[in-house]
Amino acid sequence: MPFSTLRTRGRARRLSTSLAVAVLPLLLGIPLMYWQAATLLESRAAKSAADSRKQLDAMLDDASRAAGVVLPLAGQPCEDVAQKLRSQVAVSPFSRSVNLVADGLIYCTSLMGAYEQNEDTASYVNGQLRLMAGNLVTPDRAVLVYRQAAGNHGVLIGIDGQHLINLLRINGQDVSLQIAVGQSWLSANGRVSDAPANGKREYAVEVSSSRYPFQVSGGYSPGATVQYMQDHYQPQWLLFLILGALAGAGSYRLSLRATSPGTALKRALEADEFIPHYQPVVNAENGHWHGVETLMRWQHPSEGLVPPNQFIPLAERLGLIVPMTRALMRHIREDFAGRAEQLPMGFHIGVNITAAHCRNLQLIDECRDFLAAFAPGQITLILELTERQMITPTEITEQLFAELRQLGVRIAIDDFGTGHSSLAYLREFRIDVLKIDRSFIAMVDSHALSRHLLDNILDLATRLQLDLVAEGVESAEQVAYLRQRGVRFLQGFHFARPMPAAPLFDTLRTPPTV
Ligand code: C2E
Ligand code: CA
Ligand code: CA
Repeated sequence: MPFSTLRTRGRARRLSTSLAVAVLPLLLGIPLMYWQAATLLESRAAKSAADSRKQLDAMLDDASRAAGVVLPLAGQPCEDVAQKLRSQVAVSPFSRSVNLVADGLIYCTSLMGAYEQNEDTASYVNGQLRLMAGNLVTPDRAVLVYRQAAGNHGVLIGIDGQHLINLLRINGQDVSLQIAVGQSWLSANGRVSDAPANGKREYAVEVSSSRYPFQVSGGYSPGATVQYMQDHYQPQWLLFLILGALAGAGSYRLSLRATSPGTALKRALEADEFIPHYQPVVNAENGHWHGVETLMRWQHPSEGLVPPNQFIPLAERLGLIVPMTRALMRHIREDFAGRAEQLPMGFHIGVNITAAHCRNLQLIDECRDFLAAFAPGQITLILELTERQMITPTEITEQLFAELRQLGVRIAIDDFGTGHSSLAYLREFRIDVLKIDRSFIAMVDSHALSRHLLDNILDLATRLQLDLVAEGVESAEQVAYLRQRGVRFLQGFHFARPMPAAPLFDTLRTPPTV
């Protein structure tokens, strides 16, 4: 699988897992809030209807009491009792009118005195209650009529619809309530109709009075639960969002923190955290920059920049060094593409490889792809292979090195002097460059015996007629000594430390002080 695909997949997987964790509080919270809102609205609807029923019962109790007081007056001449009817209206808080009936005729009313109208007993539910949209006096105003009868005498008490409307409004702030008497329905808007308000209701509830023939029904309009959640649960929404963000971020951080060093390396590879730093190499003969060596760094999200000796040995053991080097070469290509033209033709870019790279021919394609990013001859790619990791010659290595050579890739033996590569070994792999280990360069400053060892190494290297690079050059004295002995290429803190691409290109703009 190509490295980039692996990396994108790993990151996508981590991101999607963290996203799932982030929405979890909301996913759990929404049903919880819904359940809470539903329970609340349901009990509110029930309570509103029950309270309304109780209050209407009380109004009718009052009407019933008033009726009981005036019923004995029925049958008496209107002019004798009209005043008493009016005083009863005055003491009864909800009654608007009190009317007397005798022998099926309404003959006396508190409003107009003597009167004459047939009583329509059939329209009273249970002979007791009638809800009217209006009457002769107030045709547009609902009225509830309570009837009490004994023999052929009766009393009708009119309760003003406004009392009922107030009752429905006060009890049903957000619940829509209706009072039903038989087939007549009164809503809080004051309208009386012969059918209940149409449409489905949420948390529909209906309560009946045990004393009078009426029902109170209530409920919420559809979507009320969601609306309620939106209007009243902002703190909860915010809390779940914050919890989600924290959980998501926490899970992302945890996913970045791998459990074992091996998993950590794999994760870092997927996250593309291995980046190149570059250390310039000087040509001591002409005093120009000759090239760079690429040195891998781990840009760790919490540890910062990790040096290679802390992770390369493990990467080699786990077989991760090959994909890591591939990723590194991609970075180098990106860093140098578009800027290579500013550099001298044939500018050297060194990349450290290991024995693991020499077990198959994959490296050929990687080097070919790398070089294809530059104009022909613009860049010379050098593969540095440490002398401490001797590779055994096989058909594969033979083909590998032959094809690399054809591509113009040069091979360097790194840390020369610390291993034991024989002349035969150097010939077998047709080595181009020897990089003398910095432990020998440090001997310039020490006593004559050690210096003698360095001189031997330099003699041997010179006799092999290979390009020589002195590593770890830290002082002007070392520079002078090495130049005097014909070491052409120098690399070390004396000239420049390893650095990222941006400062490198700044450094390369001015010539080195040799
Ligand atoms: P190396 O290939 O011998 O790289 C040279 C090391 O010497 C670098 O250490 C560099 O920073 C250090 N150095 C350069 N000039 C001086 C100097 O004047 N004085 C001193 N004291 N040190 C100097 P670094 O970058 O820590 O790398 C250590 C080793 O890690 C490298 O040794 C190499 O063996 C390995 N390494 C680094 N990058 C890679 C890589 O991409 N692939 C592989 N396989 N190994 C790598
Ligand atoms: Ca090296
Ligand atoms: Ca070295």
